[in-house]
Amino acid sequence: MKIGIIGAGPAGLSAAYELVKRGQDVVVFEQDPQFVGGISRTVEHHGYRFDLGGHRFFSKSREVENFWEDILGDDLIVRRRISRIFFDGKFYDYPLKPLNAFRNMGARNTALCLLDYIRAKSSDPKDIRTFEDWVVFHFGRQLYEMFFKAYTEKVWGRPCNEISADWAAQRIKGLNLYSAIKDSFGLSGRSKRKTRNGAVVKSLIDEFRYPKFGPGMLWEKVASHVTSQGGQIIMGTKVTHILHQDGKIRSIQTTGVTKESQTHIFDAVISTMPMRSLVRSLYPEVPHTIKEAAEKLHYRDFLIVALVVDAASLFPDNWIYIHDPQVKVGRIQNFGNWSSHMLPPRSRTSCVGMEYFCFEGDGLWSSTDTDLLNLAKNELSYLGLIGHHPIIDSKVVRVPKAYPVYDDDYQTHIQSIVDYLRDRASNLQLIGRNGMHRYNNQDHAIMTGFLAARNLLGEHHDLWAVNGDAEYLEEVNDDRHVPKFLKQA
Ligand SMILES: Cc1cc2nc3c(=O)[nH]c(=O)nc-3n(C[C@H](O)[C@H](O)[C@H](O)COP(=O)(O)OP(=O)(O)OC[C@H]3O[C@@H](n4cnc5c(N)ncnc54)[C@H](O)[C@@H]3O)c2cc1C
Repeated sequence: MKIGIIGAGPAGLSAAYELVKRGQDVVVFEQDPQFVGGISRTVEHHGYRFDLGGHRFFSKSREVENFWEDILGDDLIVRRRISRIFFDGKFYDYPLKPLNAFRNMGARNTALCLLDYIRAKSSDPKDIRTFEDWVVFHFGRQLYEMFFKAYTEKVWGRPCNEISADWAAQRIKGLNLYSAIKDSFGLSGRSKRKTRNGAVVKSLIDEFRYPKFGPGMLWEKVASHVTSQGGQIIMGTKVTHILHQDGKIRSIQTTGVTKESQTHIFDAVISTMPMRSLVRSLYPEVPHTIKEAAEKLHYRDFLIVALVVDAASLFPDNWIYIHDPQVKVGRIQNFGNWSSHMLPPRSRTSCVGMEYFCFEGDGLWSSTDTDLLNLAKNELSYLGLIGHHPIIDSKVVRVPKAYPVYDDDYQTHIQSIVDYLRDRASNLQLIGRNGMHRYNNQDHAIMTGFLAARNLLGEHHDLWAVNGDAEYLEEVNDDRHVPKFLKQA
């Protein structure tokens, strides 16, 4: 079989890796002229390395962990997680520590939080529809206002009562106030922090793994493995049209650096390109209802301003969440604390990543790099994180479609598109984050890539049954975490 893969991010490269291992003929098209790894790439600037948002390596899937270990060996280092929340002029340890939280909040606010929590617990869970409902029910309104509202609204650019409860259920499930408090007193040892099926509760973990030169290192290694086994990765080549006929994809068209269009014929295609762009590229054009469904899929975009500061040690955290609504920055990374190899050898400087969530084309996104640099500098000083140390270098990177948005109707739209493609493009598989419009980490992208490859080799996996923890749930008799619409698919 000749297999075409759209995108050399984690999902596309994992599929290619699995296919070349089994002797298949694979061509990967990547629109970026230089980098593999998609959103999980590592940018290098004058000897400094940084991620597009720090990328922790953590998975409940043993298979994914084994894959990382096989590729990276000793280059996969273990890091202690240090992170805090900046709220109301104070730094709160995160995960929350009762003594630190009590000291910051004072007795009155602490009592209010507890009362509120008890009140919320007695409300009716049937009414949970939005992110706000979900968090208030699980933690109480006071804690919601302090630790969830402002940050979540920065991330999504919309009020929490317009964000689907699915997102909270997926991202913070398994975490509750009681276990958080118990954990922070050290009463719940590592083994007790496991869920029923033996998995670690993700929001509480205090260690993670990380490639010593950043996540891009993993994907560069996987890419060289793919090419050394005979696979092709064609960089700077964008898939523009996907031609289908008689229920199958017949060919795809690409445009490369020369701008000349080329046609490629494949027996099967695996796509990681955003679902909305995929539908736009189908030819003959899809019916109006499907087009409309795709156009209603939305994305949140992201940009990072990396600042090199002339100071060896600024703060101990890997990252800090900035809940303060006075500043636009949402999160601040300290890349040298992820790995000293992210800095030039023997450097006495720091590299700080200021993360801004935005929409492509809005005021932040369209600001000049100089304006963004000034904004980042001013906000860093306001937060008191760099003292008088000078900033000696900077780099801005914009990341379109960083987050697929879960709004009220997204499931219905995906369902229509998936149903349509099942009949019109039976040799096409959608995988990965934007490919499936699922807000997930690398491990999910990897697992869907592996399973799509195996489907082409005669296995039968339902890729929609891979959950946010990269667990393939079809064989496990427990589908509670599979979104409703996927169960019907
Ligand atoms: C701020 C932030 C922080 C994150 N933190 C973590 C973390 O801590 N841990 C973790 O595991 N994950 C994290 N993630 C998630 C992780 O980045 C993604 O899950 C992962 O990169 C998804 O892989 P993918 O291959 O599905 O998609 P992508 O990474 O988006 O890759 C898709 C690739 O396809 C290419 N492409 C798209 N369209 C076309 C086309 N038409 N033609 C050719 N090529 C095309 C793109 O250029 C891209 O290279 C984070 C994400 C963000 C935004």
